[in-house]
Amino acid sequence: MAEKRDYYEVLGLQKGASADDIKGAYRKAALKWHPDRWVSGTDAEKRTAEEKFKEASEAYSVLSDPDKRAKYDQFGFAGVDGAAGQDWSQGFGNLNDILNNLFGGAFGGFGGFGGFEGFGGFGGGQQGQRVQRGRDIRTRVKVTLEEIANGCEKEVTIERNRPCPDCDGRGTRNASDVRTCPTCKGTGSVQHVTNTLFGRTMTSSVCPQCNGTGKVVTNPCSTCKGTGLVRKKETVKVRIPAGVEDGMQLTLRGEGHAAPQGGVNGDLLVIVEEQPHAQLKREGNNLFYTRVISVADAMLGCEIQVPGLDGPQRLKLDPGTQSGTVERLRGKGLPSVNNYGLSGGRGDLYVKILVWIPRKLSRSEREAVEKMRDSVRPDPNRDDRALFEKESQYF
Ligand SMILES: [Zn+2]
Ligand SMILES: [Zn+2]
Repeated sequence: MAEKRDYYEVLGLQKGASADDIKGAYRKAALKWHPDRWVSGTDAEKRTAEEKFKEASEAYSVLSDPDKRAKYDQFGFAGVDGAAGQDWSQGFGNLNDILNNLFGGAFGGFGGFGGFEGFGGFGGGQQGQRVQRGRDIRTRVKVTLEEIANGCEKEVTIERNRPCPDCDGRGTRNASDVRTCPTCKGTGSVQHVTNTLFGRTMTSSVCPQCNGTGKVVTNPCSTCKGTGLVRKKETVKVRIPAGVEDGMQLTLRGEGHAAPQGGVNGDLLVIVEEQPHAQLKREGNNLFYTRVISVADAMLGCEIQVPGLDGPQRLKLDPGTQSGTVERLRGKGLPSVNNYGLSGGRGDLYVKILVWIPRKLSRSEREAVEKMRDSVRPDPNRDDRALFEKESQYF
């Protein structure tokens, strides 16, 4: 599959472009590339227009939606998978409708589009050699819950191919030593004819002489042996957005291996590895903490400290706190990664209180509890009797 272009690049925009810029850029692209405008063009022109139009529409469908845009900004194409492709398989929609939608205030509905079957994939069917893409690099980064709470920046050290500094990635110091590959005539692929029971079939594969670049190098550069690439150990800063979860993958576009002969860099894929917290358990955006208190603290009330991610939280427990009570500290959980950049709230921190009934008592403890035996006992006439009745319903 051909490499997809960055959505901002497709619309000729900068990353921070405003909603109006995006709208304007898409309007321009739609006016230029809508297939209605190319009905009298050559087949090649029609195909280009279809591809350009599809590309611009897809970019617009993501960038015009604040939620999808935020995900795309963070995770690249992985963040908006399915947004592309799916809704594009049934017809182009009328150009006037599109423009009316754009400027009549009714956005978001590209329901009438689609129907690109028969055109090959995105960018497919192009003439000439294809652009090479460097391989992706996968790495892992460990983050604590505290770091996840607020987002953080991490450094990862990777070894990757970069363009050779001595030949600028050409593979030879002299530009005139780069020639068109004689085997594939620069197309990067070779055709095979196979005879089968059903007749002759044509298949194509990557040219073995130039590995698909369409170019061969005579007099190769001594530093890179003609590959145009050198191995480098480099440290890359990775911004970890708040709220990420174990196993999530962040895409740093273009930070992977360089491709030979000036192709497109691969991506750096960083997989988040959440380190377990000593005292807190995580479930989605919520945190859970269990605390055991003494019988006396339960009866008399007390104040405890809960290990929050932004520092210890004080929690007052009322006199008569029952074992199993769950207290909620609102907003002391984790933010949601999906709400990043929007006004997303945070999850909660749940504190479960367990009252410890000792199995063994020292002599002095025993004496102290003996004194309590007669003064504190269940009494059906007391006003907190309701609690006992509630608890006993579980049997
Ligand atoms: Zn070749
Ligand atoms: Zn070199």
